[in-house]
Amino acid sequence: MQAQRRVIIFLGPPGSGKGTQGMRLGEALAIPVISTGELLRNECRAGTDLGRQIGAILQSGQLLADSQINSMVAHRIAAADCLHGCILDGFPRTVAQAEFLDNWLEQSGGAEVTVFDFLVSVDELIERLGKRRQCPKCGCIFSTRGEPLANRMTCPNDRSLLVSRTDDQPDAIRNRLQIYQRNTGPLTKYYRRRGYHRISAAKSPDFITEELLGVLRPQSSNLTAANLVLAAHAIN
Ligand code: AMP
Repeated sequence: MQAQRRVIIFLGPPGSGKGTQGMRLGEALAIPVISTGELLRNECRAGTDLGRQIGAILQSGQLLADSQINSMVAHRIAAADCLHGCILDGFPRTVAQAEFLDNWLEQSGGAEVTVFDFLVSVDELIERLGKRRQCPKCGCIFSTRGEPLANRMTCPNDRSLLVSRTDDQPDAIRNRLQIYQRNTGPLTKYYRRRGYHRISAAKSPDFITEELLGVLRPQSSNLTAANLVLAAHAIN
């Protein structure tokens, strides 16, 4: 019998560490991480029709229309690499998106849904996002926290000059947080009754990875011995 599809949802404001944990967990569970923000930024970088339409929305921190993002996500999670599951980072962001996802999953054979809600203070977020740098070419994210800025000027993958995202500037951050709290706050209530876990994002990345794996380990059929070794590497 085929194992049930596992869908892991990361809730949490921008800068709460979802990207880092997504990479680690995705590797440990051998499932793809789908970051809607990254999918949209890729459209902008590639200069597609959609990219040109949404550039201003992304810069302002406003949300795209539910219908637009829903069809994009449905298309992505229907791909073969998501058959056993995926990690959703940045989706759903509204109750309407969560309802859409539930319906989609139900019609596609069901899924075991686990929700991790990353909690972090506003001050900590402004500090983190202000120090975040991204490679404009490959999209990798780095933090300049705890080291001289000069050490993090270029991307180790392709030597591109790292930049601070326009939506990581203080005014845009405050705006994004307000939008997050208004739209995504109600999702806590939506998911609270099933597979919902609060994660203190102020803890160290390694501690958080262990915590997430601790929740998933007993349930996961995908977490094979080989993947556990990978997970151990990721947190050491
Ligand atoms: P993120 O990198 O997740 O903070 O996303 C960057 C931007 O992409 C957001 O500020 C929104 O403009 C847009 N976006 C990402 N995910 C969604 C979503 N689920 N619904 C609507 N807009 C989104």
